This record gives sequence, C-alpha cells and structure tokens, in this order.
Amino acid sequence: MFFKILPIMLLVSSIAYGQTTTPLTYPLNDAVKKVCNNLEDKFKAYKWGEAHCEYFDWINVRKTNAGTPLIWTAFGEEKSPAAANTTLVLCGVHGDEITPVKFCWDLMRELKSNHTFHNKMVVVAPLVSPDSFFKLRPTRTNAAGVDVNRNFPTKDFKSDAYKRWINTYRRDKRKYPGPYANSEQETLFQMNLILRYKPNKIITVHAPLTLLDYDGPSLRAEAGKTAKQVLEQMSEKSAGYKVSNYPIFPGSLGNWAGKEKHIPTYTLELPNSNPLESDKFWLLFKDAVIYAIEHPMKPTVD
Ligand SMILES: [Zn+2]
Repeated sequence: MFFKILPIMLLVSSIAYGQTTTPLTYPLNDAVKKVCNNLEDKFKAYKWGEAHCEYFDWINVRKTNAGTPLIWTAFGEEKSPAAANTTLVLCGVHGDEITPVKFCWDLMRELKSNHTFHNKMVVVAPLVSPDSFFKLRPTRTNAAGVDVNRNFPTKDFKSDAYKRWINTYRRDKRKYPGPYANSEQETLFQMNLILRYKPNKIITVHAPLTLLDYDGPSLRAEAGKTAKQVLEQMSEKSAGYKVSNYPIFPGSLGNWAGKEKHIPTYTLELPNSNPLESDKFWLLFKDAVIYAIEHPMKPTVD
C-alpha cells in the first residue's frame, strides 16, 4: 500500500538548517521515526552534526526483510510530457560506504533550501541499505548477506551471477548476488523507484573507487550525446575527476538500468568512506551533481 507521510515542508519552510529550534510535532510513523533516530545516532558518531531527518517529506512503501522502512523523498514537479527532467539519486546502497549517505544528505539540504524546481524533479533515496548502515560495524551486504547491487533481474543473472560469484569472486561474501534475482527488498526498492518515476538519469553514489562511471546509451551514438556532455562536465566540475569505464556485473544497477533500460546511469565513486572527509567530498562534487540534475535529457526508452 502506498503510504505517503504528510508534507512537512509547509511546517518547516521557515526553518533554516543549523538553527536550534523548538521541536515540532511531525507526522512521522513510528517505524520511520526509528530510522530517523538511528540516523541521528550515526550522524553523532560520525561527527556530522544533526540529521534533522524530520525536515524532509518522506515517502515509504516497503520495508527490508528485517522490518526497516525504505524511505525516499522527492523535490519538484511530477513529470509531465513537457518536463522530461527527472533525476533519481541513490546513496547508501552498500552500508559500509559511509560518505555517500552524508553526500545525499548534503544534496537534500541543498535542494530543499536553494533550488527551484520548474519542470524538474529530483528523487533522493539516501539510505538504500539501512540495515547494513545501522550496524555497529556496517557491512557491504544487507541483513541477509546479499549485495543488493548484484541482485537486479538482469538478463544475465540466471546464467552468470552465481557462476561468476563462485569462479571470479571465490564466494566472496561481500559480493553474494542472492538466491535469485530480486530476492531482496532493497533491490526491489531501487527498481520500483525507477519504474515509478521513470527517471531520465540516475546518479548512484558509492565509495571508494575514486572514479566516475557511466552506463547507458552509447556515448558515441546520437542517443548518448547529452549523456556524454553531462559526464564530461561532471568530471570538469570536480577538478577533472577520473572518468573510467568500470565493468558492469550480472545483477548490477548499471547493467539493469543503464544497459538494459537505456537510462543514463552515473556512478560516482567517492575517494573513501572516512566520515570525517564528507564535507570535502560534498564541496568537490556538489557542482557536478547539480549540473547533472539541472541538465534535461531526452526521455528514455522504458
Ligand atoms: Zn558500493
């Protein structure tokens, strides 16, 4: 069942970040409140200040198998034929990659306080894999031990995912693709956001490979022209950050959304997972990500 938490924006539109204010009564359900409390604890532990989770207008449909709500927030207008600029941003896909979660948070704050959204929509899921992020020692895989970025129903999943895990990765527990495609709620969550919003582009933030990767329509073909321009600009706007054609994997987002669904998919791999470097990464990549968000792209094939 679709359950939308009531808009909070109206309540807090006059509140600026960083201010200490009298707490308002937010219409968050108890499960989402728990996520927010856990986030506050992590923010504190990582010396990130306060999360102010309640400032955002959260939407929640599904939960992880452990019962944790998978939440997202949306800025701007629902897509219309004239407004073909919807961006989906995903962070915290791998729970032990700490800096991407803060990156999404900084982006949400920026979007909420400094942006107008004429003919544009940005959907942000800042914590795709909450159970692994919330662990005392965060892990790459979810509570069931599955890498939720190897669990998408790509055409090669059945034939290659398990085989590859055994032969290439020697059963590396960090890369287990799951018993079958889409076995994990966190994967279904990402997939359903894509099916629901039909984004014109996706930005997924990871760490620590220190590169910018692209999957989607060929950059050499007409369809990839804008995608290429955005990729080049993203690199230029982040001090020439390295662009690398990182391979796709059976069950990965780049494979499913980029290669098979033809949605330009940008993977920003931050330099490391050190929470103390989060501010630095936001400053380095802010303009690149805002540029990509601002830039309209042709509607993609669904
Ligand atoms: Zn990752």
